[in-house]
Amino acid sequence: MKKVLLSAKVPFYKVNLHCHTTVSDGKLTPLEIKEYYKSNGYSAVCFSDHEVLVDHGDLTDGSFIALKGYEISTNESDGSWGWSHTTKSAHFNLLCKTPDVDKQVCYNPYAVWGGAASYKDKVKYLGNICMRVHSDMGLNYIIRQANENGFLVTYNHPAWSLHTYGDYKNLDGLFAVEVYNSGSVMSGLLESDAVYDDFLSQGKRLHCVAADDNHNHGSADDPLNASFNGWVCVQAKEFSYNGLIDALTDGAFYSSTGPQIEELYADDNGLRIKTSPARQIIFIGRGRNRQVFAPPIGQAIREAVCNLKDEYLRAVVIDEYGKKAFTNAYRFDKA
Ligand SMILES: [Zn+2]
Ligand SMILES: [Zn+2]
Repeated sequence: MKKVLLSAKVPFYKVNLHCHTTVSDGKLTPLEIKEYYKSNGYSAVCFSDHEVLVDHGDLTDGSFIALKGYEISTNESDGSWGWSHTTKSAHFNLLCKTPDVDKQVCYNPYAVWGGAASYKDKVKYLGNICMRVHSDMGLNYIIRQANENGFLVTYNHPAWSLHTYGDYKNLDGLFAVEVYNSGSVMSGLLESDAVYDDFLSQGKRLHCVAADDNHNHGSADDPLNASFNGWVCVQAKEFSYNGLIDALTDGAFYSSTGPQIEELYADDNGLRIKTSPARQIIFIGRGRNRQVFAPPIGQAIREAVCNLKDEYLRAVVIDEYGKKAFTNAYRFDKA
């Protein structure tokens, strides 16, 4: 039976799900971020400043939606308060499922730093001050509290966090994992979508996202400017806060650093995809169960039909510049 995952007939909205402003350690104000991203074709940005949840709903208009969230983090500790280039650090983006969610979870005023400190007296939070712990139990506690109180939780930049399999294999309840984080990549820590495969092969159900994690301290034409390098294209049924969240929750989106995915559907034989011109289209199941389509050198392909059999499949599209687009995984055992 044919199941349309991304339709050629429904509009896509371009969204940056991870962004910093003057509220924490970014250089641009929320209004400047809105104008910067709108003028570059974006329909929404998640304002995810560090440690404080601030409502930017006043920036929402008929062609732009200010998604609300914050980035929460906790560091590995050796018993001191020290920090070095080898300290592991877990970061999660907490995206409000509705605009009226206004209370932070796992709040700790000692974790609020930089410009965000001026918001300490204004934030609302649930429960007691939380002593966050960088352990399976400590990180899952944060994720669980967030899920129970109106947030979608994304596991941010595993490479920047210096996380390896043992650090993330027991995380549960994630909405998504960042397979591309521009800020991380621009600082030399190359993110990998293999982390997504690790979660999928455990049987976990989650999506993948690409995001900027932009701070904008350099000039706009700096080749290491993190803006406009990683985004999601969301196929919302209606252009509204709730419409975007519903589509994100359902996985009705793809992630990209360049290529476009025009259509994706699953049937009894596997996955079918239509894309912008590509040098490779790769279908990925468990482990080495993969199928690669590539045209003769100098040519491009725009569609591929995969007939792999597996519990789940996803696709990666690579263009002539090496830029990639990532579909979410589709589980064939899905009810
Ligand atoms: Zn981070
Ligand atoms: Zn960030």
